[in-house]
Amino acid sequence: MRVRFSARDDAWSEWAPALRAACPEMHLDRDGDPATFDAIIYAPGGDITDFAPYANVRLVQSLWAGVERIVGNATLTQPLARMVDPGLRQGMAEYCAGWAMRAHLGMDRYAQDGIWRNGQIPPLAAERPVTVLGMGELGQAAAAMLTALGFPVTGVSASGRAVPGVSVLPIAQLDQALARAQILVCLLPDTPATRGLLDADRLSRLPDGAWLINPGRGTLIDDEALLRGLDRGRPGHAVLDVFRTEPLPGDHPFWAHPAVTVTPHIAAETRPATAAPVVAQNLRRAMVGRPLLHLVDRDRGY
Ligand code: NAP
Repeated sequence: MRVRFSARDDAWSEWAPALRAACPEMHLDRDGDPATFDAIIYAPGGDITDFAPYANVRLVQSLWAGVERIVGNATLTQPLARMVDPGLRQGMAEYCAGWAMRAHLGMDRYAQDGIWRNGQIPPLAAERPVTVLGMGELGQAAAAMLTALGFPVTGVSASGRAVPGVSVLPIAQLDQALARAQILVCLLPDTPATRGLLDADRLSRLPDGAWLINPGRGTLIDDEALLRGLDRGRPGHAVLDVFRTEPLPGDHPFWAHPAVTVTPHIAAETRPATAAPVVAQNLRRAMVGRPLLHLVDRDRGY
């Protein structure tokens, strides 16, 4: 099996050894005659922009969970699979749980300034409703960890499909889910339907002082509306890992706003050690014509 690797230059040394170890029967290359390849391993920043010459490719396997930078490519007619990986799930669950606990326990309240602030005891997690917007692979992982910590979690998804242990609402009931969210975790993909979903009206439905945590995609949020909302306390604080422009420009008001925490798109990384076996499994399926895992629905965009 011949597999073409297309990603940023610095990804090759990180990924090639793990991919070759997970799939020793594969011949992995960074260039070559397009017609000779059976599959493509893809991440943004690589050299392939035209997929048409790769006429014999049976699988384009993304190393990223989010596929917004490839799904709309008109030359891509081959099956596209996105990354679903146990390391990604664990990393994202830890990120969401960590920042949710910071919000819940009011960790920022205790400046080391000699003031004995014992007037505000946080409730137990059971009294702190959390809404997770997006109940896919990562939303479910975050919801499971938050539930294990004791938070009552409401999930929201396009379909409202049932998830064990979580009450899930369809997107039509988003306003209801926002109104109860003392902590809102956003794990939606970037699609035409999610862009700008959290606008001024939606943000105003959050309870006063709610925390918004967004490690999904920056396009979800109307930045101006968020800044105005933060000035009024709805939400009370935003933890943002993803942005409309990345890296976040140095003069963006998010950097200076006292109620914003910026993290630099580090919530969950695809790690070669856990992801390479997933890639290998899908490559082998492609080679023998078995159903592929984690296929992207082009019409929905995720
Ligand atoms: P996924 O498994 O495809 O799940 C997507 C979820 O979003 C599904 O529950 C889906 O609903 C829901 N959804 C999609 N469109 C919707 C809409 N218009 N309204 C309401 N719900 C909608 O994706 P995933 O693996 O969980 O990943 C989620 C996103 O996380 C990725 O797309 C990527 O952008 C982001 N991400 C960020 C990082 C980081 O480091 N910051 C790392 C990895 C991924 P259904 O269940 O009904 O289909």
